[in-house]
Amino acid sequence: MADILIKGADTLVTMDDARREIAGGDIRISGGVIAEVGQNLPANGADVVHAKGCVVTPGLVNTHHHLYQTLTRAVPGGQDALLFGWLQTLYPIWASFGPEEMRVSAMIGLSELALSGCTLSSDHLYLFPNGSRLDDTIEAAHEVGLRFHPTRGAMSIGESDGGLPPDSLVEDEAGILEDCIRVVDRFHDASDGAMVRVGIAPCSPFSVSRDLMRDAALLARDKGAMLHTHLAENDEDIAYSLEKFGCRPGQYAQDLGWTGDDVWHAHCVKLDAQEIDLFAKSGTGVAHCPCSNCRLGSGIAPVRQMRDAGVNVALGVDGSASNDAGNLVAEARQAMLLQRVQNGADAMSAREALEIATRGGAAVLGRYDCGQIAVGKRADIAVWDFSGVESAGSWDAAALLLAGPTRVRDLFVEGRQVVRDGQMATIDLPRVIERQNVLARGLMAR
Ligand SMILES: [Zn+2]
Repeated sequence: MADILIKGADTLVTMDDARREIAGGDIRISGGVIAEVGQNLPANGADVVHAKGCVVTPGLVNTHHHLYQTLTRAVPGGQDALLFGWLQTLYPIWASFGPEEMRVSAMIGLSELALSGCTLSSDHLYLFPNGSRLDDTIEAAHEVGLRFHPTRGAMSIGESDGGLPPDSLVEDEAGILEDCIRVVDRFHDASDGAMVRVGIAPCSPFSVSRDLMRDAALLARDKGAMLHTHLAENDEDIAYSLEKFGCRPGQYAQDLGWTGDDVWHAHCVKLDAQEIDLFAKSGTGVAHCPCSNCRLGSGIAPVRQMRDAGVNVALGVDGSASNDAGNLVAEARQAMLLQRVQNGADAMSAREALEIATRGGAAVLGRYDCGQIAVGKRADIAVWDFSGVESAGSWDAAALLLAGPTRVRDLFVEGRQVVRDGQMATIDLPRVIERQNVLARGLMAR
C-alpha cells in the first residue's frame, strides 16, 4: 500500500504530549502508522489528501455503547421513562433480536460513529437472544473498518429471582464465563495496532451475582483483558447498592476487584469524593455519557472534580435507546456544555473536551498506541471540513466543538480510508440503512 500524505491542514491539532497545533500541518502515514508530522513534507510518491480549509484531529474514541440499540431509537414507551421503567419497556423488544439484528444494528451504529469522527469504539453487549453472539458485532466492525473493543456482557438475575430483565434474556453463570473465555481466546489481540480487543463486562452489579463479578475480574486478569460495567448511574442505583450490598458502588467495586487501570466504568454520575479519590489512586477509568445522562435525567457527572483529582475520564455516546443519537463529536460538545451548566463558563474548554474525546478515551481503553497524532502512533485520523456553513466565520479550531461541523470529510483507521468526502468508503451504507429499517418495522409489527 502506498503511503498517504495528508497535506496542508489549516490547523493540525495533534493532542501529542506537547499539545502542539500546527498551521499548514502535514501527516505522512505509512503502513498504518504515523511516520512523519510537520509542514511542507514532500510527497515522495504518496497518495496526497489535500486538507486546506480543514482542521485535522486524532480520531475520536468512544468508550461506551450498546450498538444493538440503534434498532430501538425513539421507542414511544421509552421516550420519557426513568432508567428502570425504560429498561422494562425495552427488554421484551430486545428479547426478539437474533444474529442479523445484532450485525446490522452494529453496522449502523459504527457507521454513525465513523461519520462523526470516531476511529475506535468499545461496545457493551450483554444480551444474546436467539443464537446471537459477540461474533456478530465483531464481523460488523470488520466490515465497517473501525478499531473495535467489544465487551462480552452478561445478565444472570432474571424476573423470577427478583431482577429486572425477563428470564428469557438471562444466562446461567457457568455458561457466561465459558463464553467469555471463548471470545477472548478467539478474538482478543493484545499487540500494538490491534484492531480487536475483547473486554469482560457483566451488565451492572445488580444484574449478576457477587460471585460472577468476582469471577469475571479473576478471569479478565488471567487473560489480560479489561473489565467494564455500568456504575453509580443515578440515585436509584446508589439506593439499590446501599440496600442490597450495604455499601456504596465504589466500595462494592473495590471489594470485588473492580478497580485498577484495566477497569473502566460507565456513567459514574453519583460518585462521591471518596470514590473519586479511589478511582484516581487506582487508575480506574470512567466513560462519561452526557447525552444519556441528560436523556434519562440521571444528573451531571462530576467530571470537573474527577479530572482535577486525576481520574482518567473518557467519552461514551451510550446506547441509541438512551441518547438516541450516536454522534461522538456532538457528545464531546455536550460534555463541555454540561460541565459549564454546573461549574461556570470556564469549567471546561473546547480543547479539554476534545482531549477527553481523543487521548482520554485511548488512555481509558489502555490504547497508548492511539489517540494522538505523533510519530509512531497508529494512523487514526479525522479530517474536518471547515468550509461549510456551520463553521463559516470561525476564528479558531475550537469551533469544532463550539460551532461545527458534526460530520467528518475523511476518516482514516490504521491508515485505511473509512470515510471519503463525507461518505462511508468501506460499505454500501444506504443498503444497510434500508435493511435496518426493514428490521425495525418487523419489530414494531410484533
Ligand atoms: Zn450503557
